[in-house]
Amino acid sequence: MTKFKDVVKTEEGEVFDVELEKNVLEANRKLAQENRALLQKHGVKAIDVMGAIGAGKTSLIEKLIEKLKNRYRIAAFKGDLTTTIDAEMLSRHKVEVVAINTGKECHLDANLVKKALQRLKLDSLDLLFIENVGNLICPAEFPLGSDKRIVVISVTEGPFMVVKHPFIFMDADVVVINKIDLASAMNVDVKSLETDVKKINPRARVVTTNCRTGEGIDAVMAALGL
Ligand code: MG
Ligand code: ZN
Repeated sequence: MTKFKDVVKTEEGEVFDVELEKNVLEANRKLAQENRALLQKHGVKAIDVMGAIGAGKTSLIEKLIEKLKNRYRIAAFKGDLTTTIDAEMLSRHKVEVVAINTGKECHLDANLVKKALQRLKLDSLDLLFIENVGNLICPAEFPLGSDKRIVVISVTEGPFMVVKHPFIFMDADVVVINKIDLASAMNVDVKSLETDVKKINPRARVVTTNCRTGEGIDAVMAALGL
């Protein structure tokens, strides 16, 4: 890789409100632990689905719901800035859906999830999908209390999605590479995306999918232990 020399970087303590940010992250972590304990108490398995806009998060969840709804009692949270488009899409599958509108925030946080959890009857649920706001950066820093974290990327985002956003992959249990039917048209090598993920997080299960046709959905279920 070429070394580009003219780069401005932030130094430790230089970013504005660094103390404030630390406090926010700490408060979020505590709330995430509370959410986790609440979900566990009621036997609900929660799955945080992260990924960029248009990667296929909603389509993946829709396909998973269709395959799993006879075996599990399912609900979904859908995080978006102000719209409920995806929430409506998910609710067509006859599962309970709560839309979480973040306003200007580009990620879900544990406090919003805590409030959304109050809308559900947790005892009548087994599985909760939480679709995060389309973003590959800050959701990494905001655990929600989920059991598993999925990151969805698609080949249409180009060959550098993984190396450019390492943090979100570090903590992922499952990485889904979607739209593999378009890989050759996009001139993207799926194998090298997979290698990029493994270098950052050898523990992650990597699954390739085409969420339009349903290809690979069984493998995602297996990777999630469902
Ligand atoms: Mg979506
Ligand atoms: Zn954000």
